[in-house]
Amino acid sequence: MDISAIRKDYPILQQEVHKNPLVYLDNAATMQMPKQVMDCIAMHYQSQNANVHRGVHTLSQRSTNALEDARKSVAAFIGAATEEVIFTSGCTQSLNDLAHMLESRVGYGQQVLVSAMEHHSNLVPWQDLCNRTGASLKIIPIDENGDLDLEALHMLLQEPTAVISVCWVSNVLGTVNPIGEISMMAHEVGAYVVVDGAQAMKLGKIDLHEIDCDFFACSGHKIGAMTGVGILYGKRAVLETMGPIHFGGGMVDQVSYTTATYGNVPQRFEAGTPHYVGAISMDAALTYMMDLGIEDIAAQEERLTQYILRKLEDIPEIHLAASPRRQVGAVSFTVDGVSPFDAGVLLDAKGIAVRTGHLCAQPLIESLGLEHVIRVSPAFYNTKEEIDLFLDHLNRIISLLKGSKR
Ligand code: PMP
Repeated sequence: MDISAIRKDYPILQQEVHKNPLVYLDNAATMQMPKQVMDCIAMHYQSQNANVHRGVHTLSQRSTNALEDARKSVAAFIGAATEEVIFTSGCTQSLNDLAHMLESRVGYGQQVLVSAMEHHSNLVPWQDLCNRTGASLKIIPIDENGDLDLEALHMLLQEPTAVISVCWVSNVLGTVNPIGEISMMAHEVGAYVVVDGAQAMKLGKIDLHEIDCDFFACSGHKIGAMTGVGILYGKRAVLETMGPIHFGGGMVDQVSYTTATYGNVPQRFEAGTPHYVGAISMDAALTYMMDLGIEDIAAQEERLTQYILRKLEDIPEIHLAASPRRQVGAVSFTVDGVSPFDAGVLLDAKGIAVRTGHLCAQPLIESLGLEHVIRVSPAFYNTKEEIDLFLDHLNRIISLLKGSKR
């Protein structure tokens, strides 16, 4: 991959922050948008914009076609049928909506399983579902390396289980979970399998029919598309049996003053004007990445992750939060004698953007005996030189804050 050519597609990366070249290593939070996607958004507003689905006029038809083309592209990318893709405002809304869509299928005497490494977005909606229904929420533990304890999952699945929801890739540990295996285990006991795919697009081309999950959620801004858009995938056969949870325009078939019938899947789940420009931006972002080569992108991100890991392991003051069997896209750590917040502020002073805090996974961070961590999350447009710059400044900060010349 010609990274220096690729970087020209990202105007935001060409700037200085605090008089230093920006080194953006917070991609697990939000990936930057290439100008091809920005151009596509601008072009839509300049020549095609109108509300979708409700108009016979040309612009409305253009918008509608672009939205439905986006649905096809996203579906093809994740190995789904077009009708199985519901556009939402993002991964968080997808998981919240799903917890409501599943409400009548979860009850007292059943359990909902999530893993110990979940983002709050894949934990709190299930806590709330359990509070509403009387089901109990159980946590699948992780081992000391940060891998899911499949033996413990096997034991947990002996009890009646309605739903299991796990991330494909942890936003904190970078752990890649064996989703296919988990899906098989859960289906043997008749549980619905939900995958939080917010970080999963780092794995290259994905095939949901192969892993056989029932639901999958992700966000556009994690792949270089707009914020405020994402998808909820559901197996068509399951979606067909579910009722809507949001009501209004766009999701109905016939309406009288007293009753309404609902549209087909997936329209039944998309009330109101959808974020069609967001959906179109997802299409453009996927096209951009596929043009570059989706497997090359994944390989480059894995290489950078491994490079960061190797280098951090050489620094005695660094403690990695995990060493899972397979780690992509996120490396979290703490530094002896240095608060993550201070490290983050000092790195920012040098133009280096990393994330610090509990990374929206407070129970996980606390279970590791920590309060906060520093997370570095590379994307394919980062370079080895940028990583070296980050490491150089990190070493200086360690020396400075420890008051020693190492
Ligand atoms: N799950 C995981 C694993 C994530 O990394 C994130 C975003 N950090 C989310 C869920 C929530 O995504 P969003 O904020 O885009 O809804």
